[in-house]
Amino acid sequence: MMTAPSFAIPFNRPYMTGKEVTYIAEAHGLGHLAGDGPFTKRCHAMLEASTGSLQALLTHSCTAALEMAALLLDLQPGDEVIMPSYTFVSTANAFALRGAVPVFVDIRADTLNLDEQLVEAAITPRTRAIAVVHYAGVACEMDTILAIADRHGLIVVEDAAQGVVATYKGRQLGALGQLGAYSFHETKNVISGEGGALLVNREDLRLQAEIIREKGTDRSRFFRGEVDKYTWQSIGSSFLPSELTAAFLCAQLEEATDLTQRRLAIWDTYHALLARFETAGVLRRPVIPAECVHNGHMYYVILDRKTDRQRVLGSLKSEGIHAVFHYVPLHSAPAGQNLGRSHGELPVTDDMSSRLIRLPMWIGLTNEQQVHVVDALARAIENAGGH
Ligand SMILES: *Cc1c(COP(=O)(O)O)cnc(C)c1O
Repeated sequence: MMTAPSFAIPFNRPYMTGKEVTYIAEAHGLGHLAGDGPFTKRCHAMLEASTGSLQALLTHSCTAALEMAALLLDLQPGDEVIMPSYTFVSTANAFALRGAVPVFVDIRADTLNLDEQLVEAAITPRTRAIAVVHYAGVACEMDTILAIADRHGLIVVEDAAQGVVATYKGRQLGALGQLGAYSFHETKNVISGEGGALLVNREDLRLQAEIIREKGTDRSRFFRGEVDKYTWQSIGSSFLPSELTAAFLCAQLEEATDLTQRRLAIWDTYHALLARFETAGVLRRPVIPAECVHNGHMYYVILDRKTDRQRVLGSLKSEGIHAVFHYVPLHSAPAGQNLGRSHGELPVTDDMSSRLIRLPMWIGLTNEQQVHVVDALARAIENAGGH
């Protein structure tokens, strides 16, 4: 195991509101520690109220919420799910676990989201769903994607792991498709260490979602007094987080709007500081389409093709700044090649993923630190062959 180097400016630092421990103590005092207690109910109510979703269900992670979505779709081996290759592994794993085939489609060069213009041509008789990823909390072109899904009878699953509080045409990400998945992992905007939620946006999936989450039983109906005993109804698993996790999350959800504003202020500062480098052709900044309000989840830049990214990251590291890159495109990874297939070439995915750098982004990052990061980045680029 490599020891983690300590950075003067880390890549991420989890933000805590101060209320988390109070709520955990409250859960402890109540003596209800398993899932679906009062704090879980408060989180569900807050998520439903803020997103307009029919039903929010806390899970252990976004990965677990995506696995629930795949179970809800009742996918059969060989069924296909269209998705970007430029995403985190869980988007694909959740469906591959059901024997479905991830079909990778290229991304747009501006938002790095699934290119909606390429989706329809990737549909086959085996296609069951489109899994969109709202990269960096910036929405995919959802009206187009939802219309395509509608025409072909497909379900849209939103991997909104990065999209909490962000909107598309005024509507919350995660509540636009039939199913949406949030992440509350400590690297995301609203956190509980590990954690997630599934948003169920279609009435006819609600009951089955509860059953899948409760080990395949109708235990939730039993607790509501709708049935006089609970029994095994279908395959399912245990997707409920404990009340201790829900208590932590409750404190975070109460401040979700405020902490998003604070992230956006930091994002805006980077964006302003980096404008002149974009003008000079040294790098490219993120693009936010007019219909999208993002949530400041991440600040990234796209380097010029001549710039050696590894050297840039190395120079930043030598100045105590932790910047990172991602993703290794799934279609180029061993499991992606074994379990998935690409729809044609994915030139934008290959190009963008090789040039992207994420800068430190967390609440508490000071203006001076941001100026230092941008100055160091400019020097690092100059030393790495870019301008
Ligand atoms: C973080 C992330 C996930 C996984 O979230 P977990 O809560 O850690 O399971 C999935 N998809 C995307 C796009 C992510 O950014």
